Amino acid sequence: MNNHLPNRRQFIKTSAIVAAGAPFLGGLITKSFAADPERKLGYALVGLGSLSTNQIAPALKKTKYCRLAAIVTGTPAKAERWKTQYGIPDANIYNYDTMEKMADNPDIDVAYVVTPNGLHADHTIKAAKAGKHVLCEKPMEVSPEKCQAMIDACKKAGRLLAIGYRSQFEPHHLECVRLAREKVFGAVKSIDAGFGFRIGNNQWRLNKELSGGGPLMDVGVYALQTSRYITGEEPLSVTATSANNDPVKFKDIEESIKWELKFPSGITATGNCSYSTGSNGFTVQAEQGSFGMRPAYGYNNNRGFRSDGKELRFTEIDHFATEMDDFAQCIMNNKPSKVSGEEGWRDLRIMMAIYEAARTGKEVKLV
Ligand code: NAD
Repeated sequence: MNNHLPNRRQFIKTSAIVAAGAPFLGGLITKSFAADPERKLGYALVGLGSLSTNQIAPALKKTKYCRLAAIVTGTPAKAERWKTQYGIPDANIYNYDTMEKMADNPDIDVAYVVTPNGLHADHTIKAAKAGKHVLCEKPMEVSPEKCQAMIDACKKAGRLLAIGYRSQFEPHHLECVRLAREKVFGAVKSIDAGFGFRIGNNQWRLNKELSGGGPLMDVGVYALQTSRYITGEEPLSVTATSANNDPVKFKDIEESIKWELKFPSGITATGNCSYSTGSNGFTVQAEQGSFGMRPAYGYNNNRGFRSDGKELRFTEIDHFATEMDDFAQCIMNNKPSKVSGEEGWRDLRIMMAIYEAARTGKEVKLV
């Protein structure tokens, strides 16, 4: 959970070390850092929807080590708009069929995949084949098998893969992890986490092929992640129930789902998520008190609390800028991201078990 960004002197030193013997990265990229430590990593945004437009592109301007270099879009009108707004040269504009040509473009170091969930593998694999590192939005994909294919493609290309788990860089979440791990309130006994919102009509999130499922895939993954990073453990088993009160709107997917995970230390973690109600937060119960966040999963204005009344409050950060800078540092320093592809794969595996438990009404073992 170390979110420390090195200072400039450390950065130049580590760049030199990386340049001297990088087992991980391609020679071209590594050498260019050594020659020009001022260079910011060029990000190509793959998919110019709501998240890219409203969060990621503005966040790129706030990063220390990254810049918006290129775009991948299937909509020529969007390409024109972005070209003007962000000064992107024609040579750095791709569509989903031409993105493999990024291989010839040294201006691009990282592809940030921000398309519907069920397209993440296709776009990640194309980017990896083009020799680019990949930061991919959550959920990683719609099945563990597709996650594995992404991991394999990045490994084969010698490129890093990270998942956009922004909460893992957010200071209130990190403080809750510290409170749990250092047993500030004694040993953790249980965790309850939930995230939901009221979804509109006519969108890919309601289409199982593109989404992989309902709120569990979309926002439940935050609650699941919380239970894993607070405990630092992998769950042993899960039980779950789902509900669907609108089988027309939620034809292929659940409307809401609840689960209970058992962890090796005896901690139980309940989670819930919904496309019709708006919960947002988590509470950690420990032997001598409790702590948590409410709200916990917004882009800003999240709030921490502790049962001893002490303040749990930090200066706001831009989640996306921090996450992108962290990935840039991983690339520059030749080290895997803490939000690795394997981390995304683990969540997909557990989410599939949650679905199975809800479908069968039985406990599903994870080990
Ligand atoms: P969006 O619908 O606003 O954008 C999706 C983009 O993908 C659009 O530009 C669309 O044109 C493009 N696209 C390409 N092929 C498509 C196809 N076949 N069908 C539909 N769209 C297609 O969605 P979004 O909210 O920007 O979400 C994109 C990804 O980001 C999702 O994986 C989502 O889970 C994730 N996300 C993460 C966060 C976060 O806080 N980390 C927040 C929102 C979304």
